[in-house]
Amino acid sequence: MAKNVDMIVIGAGPAGAAAAISAARGGARVVVFDKAPYGRDKVCGDGLTPRAIGALNELKIPLDDAHHIVGLRMIANNTVRELDWPSGGRFPNHGAVWPRRKLDAALIDAANEAGAEIIWETEAIPLMEGDTVTGVKANSETWLAPLTVVATGAPGTVAKMLGTDRIEDEPFGLAIRAYAESPRHADAHLEACLTLKDDHGTPVPGYGWMFPAGDGTVNIGVGALSTMKGFKSLNLNNLLASYRSMVEVPWGLGPNLERPRAWRLPMSAQKRHGPGWAAVGDAAGLINPMNGEGIDYGLESGMLISELFLKDPLTAPRLYDIQVGELFDGFLSTGRRFSFLIGHPFILKNGLRMAVGTDAIAKITLQVMGNLVDSNTPGAAGKVFSLSEKALKAADPLLRRTRAKA
Ligand SMILES: Cc1cc2nc3c(=O)[nH]c(=O)nc-3n(C[C@H](O)[C@H](O)[C@H](O)COP(=O)(O)OP(=O)(O)OC[C@H]3O[C@@H](n4cnc5c(N)ncnc54)[C@H](O)[C@@H]3O)c2cc1C
Repeated sequence: MAKNVDMIVIGAGPAGAAAAISAARGGARVVVFDKAPYGRDKVCGDGLTPRAIGALNELKIPLDDAHHIVGLRMIANNTVRELDWPSGGRFPNHGAVWPRRKLDAALIDAANEAGAEIIWETEAIPLMEGDTVTGVKANSETWLAPLTVVATGAPGTVAKMLGTDRIEDEPFGLAIRAYAESPRHADAHLEACLTLKDDHGTPVPGYGWMFPAGDGTVNIGVGALSTMKGFKSLNLNNLLASYRSMVEVPWGLGPNLERPRAWRLPMSAQKRHGPGWAAVGDAAGLINPMNGEGIDYGLESGMLISELFLKDPLTAPRLYDIQVGELFDGFLSTGRRFSFLIGHPFILKNGLRMAVGTDAIAKITLQVMGNLVDSNTPGAAGKVFSLSEKALKAADPLLRRTRAKA
């Protein structure tokens, strides 16, 4: 016999957990499925920006277990700029590094405490009646609900079924990370090296990171955007090894604690809702092309769908698509256009020189890249964002025509 609930969530990552917490706290009967076991890890840099801390605060998740971060150290060749996160804006003035095993467990435990039922090691596949999702099939059981939240991460089986795959022509990212012990594990700044080169000496649009976790270890990784020439043959393991050789001595790095692991960063989606369903987080392509951040967008989109669901389950998917678009589409498409631009080595090199040229400009770079400003934000960073948004929008056809050949 079919089981009936109010909301089904497929995927217990940050996006699914945020949806489950908000809906369950609002009184809905929620069931969450994840095909992995409890305590699963997710390949990630574990970095949380002030924007993500804002979202975790909204979800009332205690942050005692996370390593407190006050800013970012940007490195471009010989230039080093150590900046604090901006104060006095919409978001808190600190970030964090929180290894995903722990962050995701804290989130899903909060969903469980709010009353959501979590079913592990169980793949859930949407049940369709025409183009309407009526629930899921899981472990040969049928579960029915007025809304199914698709929080399945980077596209797979469910994305293919529902057509949420990334848009073929749009940029995406690939990244790889490892953990290692370091005497600087308790550093208070994230570090990003913006001048990576591939095996052929071609500048890579992306960055290498050292994210101190405060537990004896650091998360070391590199990420690259698909807009660079030669992206298809880019060897992430080699890129990581070459970055490691740069940071090994200053960070006193021990050997990798596990084999480096890579994963995709989807930055667009063909579709993110339909009758009876809505996609959140990576499943909806919500990753910031300027810094690879996705946890915050997962949390914010998860909270939004549940807020709308609690008002009216039937209109929630359509309104969600509009409102999540209003929140992020402008910024994310500016980011994608920007990534076409920096796919060209000449622009990347000169743009970087400018972006970290002085402390004041680097501060603006930090705020714009972290999506800590919008076109309504007063001051220089808001103006720079607003101007770039307009200029890149106008240049869009040219950017696509002249994109570096992958
Ligand atoms: C190397 C790397 C570094 C990154 N670094 C950062 C960073 O520092 N900061 C940041 O903000 N973002 C970072 N990101 C992006 C970030 O990891 C993702 O944006 C984030 O995990 C998205 O969360 P999610 O909940 O949408 O998906 P996920 O965390 O991927 O969760 C999806 C879940 O769905 C489950 N699932 C999938 N299909 C099914 C199914 N059919 N049935 C049941 N369960 C299913 C999976 O098992 C998984 O648990 C990084 C990504 C990579 C690859």
